[in-house]
Parts: sequence; C-alpha cells; structure tokens
Amino acid sequence: MRKIVIAIDGPAASGKSTTAKLVARRLGYLHIDTGAMYRAITLRVLEERIALDDVKSIRSVAERSKVRLERIDHANRVLLDGRDVTKEIRSREVTRAVSMISSYQPVRDVLVREQRRIAKDGGVVLEGRDIGTVVLPMADLKIYMVASADERATRRKKELEQSGTIVDRNVLEQEILERDRKDTTRAASPLQKAADAIELDTSSLTIDQQVEFVIAKANKVIEKST
Ligand code: C5P
Repeated sequence: MRKIVIAIDGPAASGKSTTAKLVARRLGYLHIDTGAMYRAITLRVLEERIALDDVKSIRSVAERSKVRLERIDHANRVLLDGRDVTKEIRSREVTRAVSMISSYQPVRDVLVREQRRIAKDGGVVLEGRDIGTVVLPMADLKIYMVASADERATRRKKELEQSGTIVDRNVLEQEILERDRKDTTRAASPLQKAADAIELDTSSLTIDQQVEFVIAKANKVIEKST
C-alpha cells in the first residue's frame, strides 16, 4: 500500500494537533507538528535574550539549532539540541513571541528544508500553517481545519487548565485572534487555505468525528493510488 502525505493546516487551536496525532497513529504514520519546530526556535531566542526584531541573530539561532521531533515511550517529544523542551515550548511567553519569529523568511527556509526531508518518503501527517501551500504543495491530501474563535478559546482554556494554568477565556480569545492576524497577514508563507484543500469546521465536532473524517478521505486517496 502506498504511504501518502497528509497536510493539515489551519489557525491556532482549530484541532490540528489532536487530529493529526490520532490520524497518524491509526495509519501507522509519522506525525510532524511543524508549529513545535517554530516554538523550539522561539524558546532559544527568548533564552538567549535576543531582541525579537534582530533578524540576523535569529537567523543564526535557526541555523545552528537542531530541532528534532521524536517518539519516546509512546509520546511525541520535541528536542532542542538534544534537550527535551516539549513542555517549555507551550509556555505563554513562547506562544506570544512565536508568530514574530516565524514571520522571518530565513527561519522558515531552515525549518521548511527539514520538513521536506522528513516527508520525502511519505507515510507522514504534517500539521501547520503553510504545509499545503508552500512546504508540500503536492501533498496527497490537504485538510484545512477551522473552528469558531469562541470554541477555540474554550478548548485552549481547558488545555491550559489541565497543566494547572488558569487564564481568562476572553484574554485567550484575544490572543488567539491576534496570532491569527499575524499569521494570515505576514509576507512570508501566510496562513491560507490551499485551493485544493478540503475545509473541515470542527466547531461542533467531537475529536472522533474529526479523526474519522480525515481517515475516510485518506483511505479514498490510498485506494485510488494503489
Ligand atoms: O501550531 P502552533 O499553534 O503550535 O504554531 C505556533 C506558531 O508557529 C503559529 O502561530 C505560527 O506563527 C507558526 N507556524 C508557522 N508555520 C507552520 C506552523 C506554525 O508559521 N507551518
């Protein structure tokens, strides 16, 4: 059976990560969270106290840092130069700075090269903002996930609560909308739906329904191509 490439794009907290992870598990594919790669570079920039507009130094960070996504003990881990930063990259400081860092083309050049290398043999589910449009325009299946801002803020609040952080829901909604604005209006690979992507609104879907939707589409593509 041919191992296909699945691209899942969409705005913050639209359900991409959860869906991509479960789809990859069902198909026995690799799950690549490209947002985690941008977050890891952002963490290093913050740790080195580099100004967020110092593109030259940020480019150097991207070029000399090794970001790896690995499966350790059945869980996806993000390694930055061998150090496990899975938890730290989800901090609110990183979340606030990441859209600025990912708007720089030199940073994208480094990470996109790595994403294409990982995807070259197929059998991968990549999630991000520009997978179907820029990273892998020839992906076999493209899904563009959306959800209402209200639902996305509610989901993010629950997620944060699970890790012991209480944040006002309205504050989260504003932060999500601000990140959407930055991601859709930047010059370098802005978030947009690829012309051949299938839109999936997850506002009133359960996780199971989201996963089943993508699996059904993937199976069709796999059947056709084998
Ligand atoms: O997916 P997640 O919300 O973790 O992504 C964090 C940020 O990384 C996004 O808001 C966006 O600025 C950036 N990103 C990107 N291109 C991708 C994935 C993420 O610019 N393919």
